[in-house]
Amino acid sequence: MPSDLSNAIAAGRRDLAAAAAARPANVYAGNPFLRALVARHAPADGLVATHERLESFGEAIAASEDLVHRCSHEPGLPVLERWDGIGRRIERVRFDGAYHELGTLLYGSGAMGLVRRPERAAELAALVTLAAHHGESGHVCPWACTAGLIKVLDRAAHPALQAALLPGLEDPRYAHRLHGSQFLTEVQGGSDVGRNATEAVPVLPETADAPAVWAVTGEKWFCSVIDAPLYLMTARPAGAVEGTRGLGLFVVPHDLPGADGRQLRVQPLAQRFGHDVPRDVNGFAIRRLKHKLGTRAMASGEVDWTGALAWQVGPIDAGFHLVVDVVLNTSRLLNALACSGMMWRAWHEAAAFAQHRRAFGRPIARFAAVDGQLGQLWVESAAATASTFDLLALEASGTHRDAWRLGLNANKYWTSVRATQMVRLAMEVLGGNGTIEDFSPLPRLYRDAMVTESWEGTHHVLAAQTLRDIARLRIDEAWLDWLGPRAGTLADAELREALVARLARLATAAAGLRQRATEESAPTDMRRWLEDAMVAHQGLCLAEVAAATPAVVDRAAIAHFLALHPERGPVGATPWWPGRRESTGARQ
Ligand SMILES: Cc1cc2nc3c(=O)[nH]c(=O)nc-3n(C[C@H](O)[C@H](O)[C@H](O)COP(=O)(O)OP(=O)(O)OC[C@H]3O[C@@H](n4cnc5c(N)ncnc54)[C@H](O)[C@@H]3O)c2cc1C
Repeated sequence: MPSDLSNAIAAGRRDLAAAAAARPANVYAGNPFLRALVARHAPADGLVATHERLESFGEAIAASEDLVHRCSHEPGLPVLERWDGIGRRIERVRFDGAYHELGTLLYGSGAMGLVRRPERAAELAALVTLAAHHGESGHVCPWACTAGLIKVLDRAAHPALQAALLPGLEDPRYAHRLHGSQFLTEVQGGSDVGRNATEAVPVLPETADAPAVWAVTGEKWFCSVIDAPLYLMTARPAGAVEGTRGLGLFVVPHDLPGADGRQLRVQPLAQRFGHDVPRDVNGFAIRRLKHKLGTRAMASGEVDWTGALAWQVGPIDAGFHLVVDVVLNTSRLLNALACSGMMWRAWHEAAAFAQHRRAFGRPIARFAAVDGQLGQLWVESAAATASTFDLLALEASGTHRDAWRLGLNANKYWTSVRATQMVRLAMEVLGGNGTIEDFSPLPRLYRDAMVTESWEGTHHVLAAQTLRDIARLRIDEAWLDWLGPRAGTLADAELREALVARLARLATAAAGLRQRATEESAPTDMRRWLEDAMVAHQGLCLAEVAAATPAVVDRAAIAHFLALHPERGPVGATPWWPGRRESTGARQ
C-alpha cells in the first residue's frame, strides 16, 4: 500500500481511537451538572459520602460497556427454558454471564435499599440516571418494577407479606435478592387497562397472620422481567364490576414457596392445587419471549395463567388506584431518570467523537452546525434531569399534589420523546459510525429510548389524562401556582421575563383548552400544551441551578434551550386522510 494511503488510513483510525479514549472514565465525576443537582437535593449532612458513593458507581458504569454489549446482542440474549433435563417445568430464563455481572454491579450499589428512604431520594435518582447511561441494560426496568413493588407492599400489603418480601427486595446482594415485575397489559388492552379480563377467584381469606390467597387465570401479553421471583399483577375478582374499578392487585410468586420461611400458607395450597412441593412452579406457563426492538437484554414474555396462587395486596377493589397512585407513578419517575441517563450518554458519545473526528481538515466540533447540536444535546440532557429531580423533590415535600400529578405525566411524556430525539441527534453527529453496533452504544440506546415512549402510559394517554384533569380539576392552576412564584423571583431579569411570559401564555392556553375540552382539536392541542409546559418547567429548573451554581450551567445554555423550543400553540387545523370520515365518524 502506498505510504500516503496508509498514513491517511492510520490518521483516520487514530481519530476514532482518540474519540473512544475521550469518553469519560467516570460518568459521575465527569458530569458537574448532575453533581450539582445531587448537591442541591440531597441532605448536606453526609453529602461528601454521597458524592463518593456515586463517583465509585460512575466509574464502574463507565467501565462496564462491554458487559451490556454482550448481553444485549446475539448470542448473549436471554433464552427461555421451560423444562429441565428430566422434563419438569421450570419456566426460567437463562441469561449470559455478562448480564449477571452487570446485575451484581447495579444491585450492589444498594439502590433498591434506598426506595423507602426519602432522605436519600436524590442519591437513588442519580444511581438510576448513571445506570441508564447504558440504556435499559436489562436491569433498569427490573429496578423500576422492584421499586414500585417495594412501595406498594410498604403502602398496602398485609404485614406478614411485608415482613416476608421486603428484606429480599431491598437486599443489595445480587444472588440473594428478590426482584419484581408488574403485569397489567393484556392483548385486548394496554392503555385500556379497564378491559383486563384475567380473573381471580378467592382461595383463602385474610387472617391476622396471612394475606388472602387467590388463584388467577387468564393471559398477560407483555410481561417484562419474566425471570423475577415476584410478579405484581392486576386481575378481576370473579363477579367484580367492569372497568378499572373492578380490578384487584396481587403478588404472584414464580415458585410456590416451600420450606424457606416464606410459606404464608401457600405451601399447603400448592398440594391442594396439585402442584408438587417444595418449590414447584406456580400455575403459569410462559408461551414465548417477545422479540423486541429494544430493551433486548431484559426478558419479556407472554404468559398463560392457570390458577396461579396469588397474595392479595391492599383492599380488593383498590387495585387500579394502587397501581396508578404508587406503581405507575414510581415507574414514570424512573422512566424519566432512565431517559435522562440515555441523553447524557448520547451527549458524552457525541462530544467525544466531535472533538476528535476530523473532516475537511478540522475536528467536526468546529463546524457551527455540529457545535449547535452538541449544545442542544447537553442542555436537553441537563433539562430532563433537572425537571425529574425537581419532581422528586416535590413528591418528597408532600405539597402541591395536583401540580405533581400534572408535572409527572408531562415529564414522562416529554423526557421519553426527547431521549429518542437526542440519541438520534447524537447518531447524526457520529455519522455512519453512529449506526454501527460494535463501534457505538447509540443504536442500542436508540432502540431502548423508543421503548420508554410506550412504557408507563403512552403519550396520548398521558395527554388525555391531563386534559380531563384540566377540565374537571383545574389542575393547570395548581401547576401554575407551583411554578409561577418561582419564576417570578428569578434574579436574571431576562430569563425571569421570558419564563413568566411563557407561564402566562400557558395559563391562557389552558383556560382555552378547558372551554373546548370535548372538541375534536383539543387532544392534539393538549399535547402541544404539555410540550410548551415542559419547556417552561425545564427552563425554570435550569435557571434555578444556574443561579445557585453558575459554574455548571451558563445562562447562554438556557437561552439556547428556550430558543430551540419556541412555543407551539394550538394546531387549529382539521386533519384529513382517505377514509377518515368512515373510520372516525368525523364530520366532513
Ligand atoms: C418492550 C415492552 C415491554 C413491556 N412490558 C410490559 C410489562 O412488563 N407489563 C405491562 O403491563 N405492560 C408492558 N408493556 C406494555 C406497555 O405498557 C403497553 O405497550 C402500553 O401500555 C400501550 O398499550 P398497547 O401497546 O396495548 O397500545 P394501545 O393501548 O393499543 O395504544 C395504541 C395507540 O393508541 C393510542 N391510544 C390508546 N388510547 C387512547 C386514547 N384514549 N386517546 C388517544 N389515543 C389513545 C395510544 O396512545 C397508542 O398510540 C410493554 C411494552 C413493551 C413495548
